[in-house]
Parts: sequence; C-alpha cells; structure tokens
Amino acid sequence: HAKNSGKNNYQFYSPKVQKPSASLKTESFLYKALKKEEFHLVYQPQVAGNEEEVIGIEALLRWNNEELGTVSPGEFIPIAEETGLIVPIGEWVLEEACRQNKAWQDQGFPPLTVSVNLSMRQFYHTNLVSTIAEILYKTGLSARWLELEITESMAIHADEAVAILKDLKDIGVKIAIDDFGTGYSSLSYLKKFSIDQLKIDQSFVRDINSDSDDNDIITTIISLGHNLGLEVIAEGVETKEQLEFLKKHGCHKYQGYYFGKPAEAEIISPMIRKQEI
Ligand code: C2E
Ligand code: CA
Ligand code: CA
Ligand code: CA
Repeated sequence: HAKNSGKNNYQFYSPKVQKPSASLKTESFLYKALKKEEFHLVYQPQVAGNEEEVIGIEALLRWNNEELGTVSPGEFIPIAEETGLIVPIGEWVLEEACRQNKAWQDQGFPPLTVSVNLSMRQFYHTNLVSTIAEILYKTGLSARWLELEITESMAIHADEAVAILKDLKDIGVKIAIDDFGTGYSSLSYLKKFSIDQLKIDQSFVRDINSDSDDNDIITTIISLGHNLGLEVIAEGVETKEQLEFLKKHGCHKYQGYYFGKPAEAEIISPMIRKQEI
C-alpha cells in the first residue's frame, strides 16, 4: 500500500485516550445495560395552536443502573457514541418509541408524531434506513408518525447527508433539526436537505424578554422557517411569558416544562385527548 504510507498511516491507529475512572466504569456498565434491560423511555409532550393540543411527543432515554444509580443522557450518550454502543441502544430506542406510539393509536388516542433523537454515529451508520423501515414494519407504525431529530453538526459530510435524508424522506419519516441555531455550519444545507421542522434551541428560549439579542435570534429563526416552508418548534418553554412571545411571533409548536416534564408513558397518556367517538 504505497499510496497509504506516510502521513495517512495515523488512521489505522486507535489511540487509547486517557479517561477518568468514573467514565470507564460507566462504559463497562453501559455494555451490559441493554441486556439487563436497564433502559427506559420517558416522553415529553409537544403542543400546537391556541388550544395547546398535544400533537407530538419526544422520546428521551433514561438509564438506571443498580450501582451507578440514575445516569443522565448528557453523561452516557457521549460514551455510547464514542464506543459505538449508541447504534444498538439507538435501535432499541427507535423500536420502543414506535411500539409505544402505535399502542397509543391502538388505544384510540388521536395520532401523534413521536420524535426520536439520532446521534451522529447512528445517522451515518450504513443500516440506518433499512433498520428504520424494518422497525416501522415490525411495530406497524405508519412512517408519517415518526420524526427523527438530527443536529446541524450532522451536515458535516454534506453529500452523504443529503443522500441519507432523501432515503429517509422516501420511506416517509419526518426530519427535524434539533438545537437549531447552536451549530457552526452554514445555512446553505437547509436548502439541500429534505427536512420538515426546525427546533429552536432552549438556550434562546431561556432568555426571552430579558435579552433582546436572543429575542432577535428567535424571531429570525421563526421567519427563516416560514420562508423555507418549515414547521418551527421551540424547546425549553418554561414560562407563560416565553410562550406568549413565541405565539406572537408565529412559532407553530412548543415543548417544555410549562406543558409537562418528560415522564413515563402512563403519565403522559391522560394528556393526550381521547378521540371523541
Ligand atoms: P435534547 O434532545 O435537546 O432534549 C431536550 C432536553 O431538555 C431533555 O434533557 C429534556 O428533558 C430537557 N428539557 C425539556 N424541557 C425542558 C425545559 O422546559 N427546561 C429545561 N431546562 N430542560 C428541558 P434530557 O432528557 O436530559 O436529554 C439530554 C440530551 O440527551 C438530549 O437533548 C439529547 O441530545 C440526548 N438524548 C436523550 N435521549 C436520547 C436518545 O434516545 N438518543 C440520543 N442519541 N440522544 C438522546
Ligand atoms: Ca431532541
Ligand atoms: Ca434539543
Ligand atoms: Ca439540547
């Protein structure tokens, strides 16, 4: 491999990175967590309109380990991502979320979109599209009721991302850009990507009415969404003032503690209006 010699050789090494022992411990427990059924999902409502009707649910992963206790996704997702464990874990999340959403539909609740977070590694995994198609088939959920949340950082391999998003669009699932406004990428990808929704990052929502710069960012994101024909949802809505501001500026949907914290399916069910028969 004369061509691969010299400066390119580094890519064949997998250097052992020094890690604090707490994280090593988490890593070793994480390997067994799936088999030991230590994961579960919580769901947070997304509402729309003046009626503030629940129209969607975001699925969020939770991990309880006997020894470690409750580990937050902010801690273990990066480790799962680094080790590649996020691929099987993410598959479990997708299947569980689709299964729960179909169960709600079968129980007579009005159909909702379930939003599932995808990590970078999952997004670029070769089996992503076929895995999702299989899960939809297996759970019987129609593709239109599944939304995938990706982040701007996933535009890093733009051409590949365009192709993946096109394949996902072809099977009929929705795509949202999570944490919108916090990425470093140029906005040009927005025109190339087949996406449905922008999700305004909670950091902008947090300072509504107290910081006019952030207010400008929010109104700009909302009009950007309008101009591109995309839905706009705000996350991290905690107060009536934030909600009023967002409504006034034409935001379509809202999610946050103001409407409900992420909770187990049984707790969320009563928030979904039963279909009047
Ligand atoms: P995210 O996707 O941006 O999710 C929103 C986070 O904000 C969640 O934290 C949620 O509980 C929290 N949140 C919701 N409403 C409010 C609010 O009104 N105020 C405040 N302060 N926070 C609010 P959580 O559940 O700890 O998740 C953290 C992150 O972990 C998520 O951020 C997401 O990036 C990642 N994550 C969670 N579940 C999964 C998963 O199944 N797969 C992947 N790849 N990542 C996940
Ligand atoms: Ca999310
Ligand atoms: Ca987010
Ligand atoms: Ca976030």
